[in-house]
Amino acid sequence: MRQQIVAGNWKMNNDMAETEMFLVQLKKQVIPEDVSLMIAPAFTNLNHAFQSVKDHPVTIVAQNMHQSDKGAFTGEVSAAMLKSVGVKTVILGHSERRSIFKEENAVLAEKVNTALIHDMNIIFCVGETLSHRETDDHFNVIEEQLEQSLFHLSQANWKQLIIAYEPVWAIGTGETATPDQAQEMHAFIRKTIAEKYSSNVANKVSILYGGSVKPKNAAEIFSQKDVDGGLIGGASLDVENFMEIANAF
Ligand code: PEP
Repeated sequence: MRQQIVAGNWKMNNDMAETEMFLVQLKKQVIPEDVSLMIAPAFTNLNHAFQSVKDHPVTIVAQNMHQSDKGAFTGEVSAAMLKSVGVKTVILGHSERRSIFKEENAVLAEKVNTALIHDMNIIFCVGETLSHRETDDHFNVIEEQLEQSLFHLSQANWKQLIIAYEPVWAIGTGETATPDQAQEMHAFIRKTIAEKYSSNVANKVSILYGGSVKPKNAAEIFSQKDVDGGLIGGASLDVENFMEIANAF
């Protein structure tokens, strides 16, 4: 069975005290045994968060990293820096990084390479805009994102990858892909990976759905055959909502 995952992407929310308050609450919850929980706080709180959950099954994840190991890159953070505070998993290719910070497929391929050199796990996000979907270009866009950022990797590298399908039009908008739309794209992603690598690789990779997942819609989305969990933005900021989603399988 594939790993079921619920990962919270906090974006630029929660300062140190709020991060600690959330984690204190989280540690009081009963964590479902078959679901891997992840939280991605701001860079400034990664060290504290990692220390705070050291004896707890939740994994602390970074929201981004730079592709270089060190140097004159003001404001950036390297893979080695993340690992030095205990962080071994990073989100790459989030649509906000792609659209606001102009990260394209080629630079994301470099980031993926650097993360793997440092033996990190990656939640790699793909997703189409509304105009791509309206012009029926969504499958092409997703295929291109996979091909240009991930398909140079070896079969073995895929053990360290988690894919997150996040239609851009559903992120933070309150509009969710229907369970059928999510399943259709997840199946397409799995088929595309199977054709490039093998069905063995494709059947083992967890594919998360992201885009306005809430306690009220999580169960229906997670019940789809190729949906292995969620990457959650807004609803991950509240422990109760996050836990309801974690228990929605
Ligand atoms: C996200 O930022 O990855 C996300 C899915 O956000 P939201 O759940 O708020 O739509």
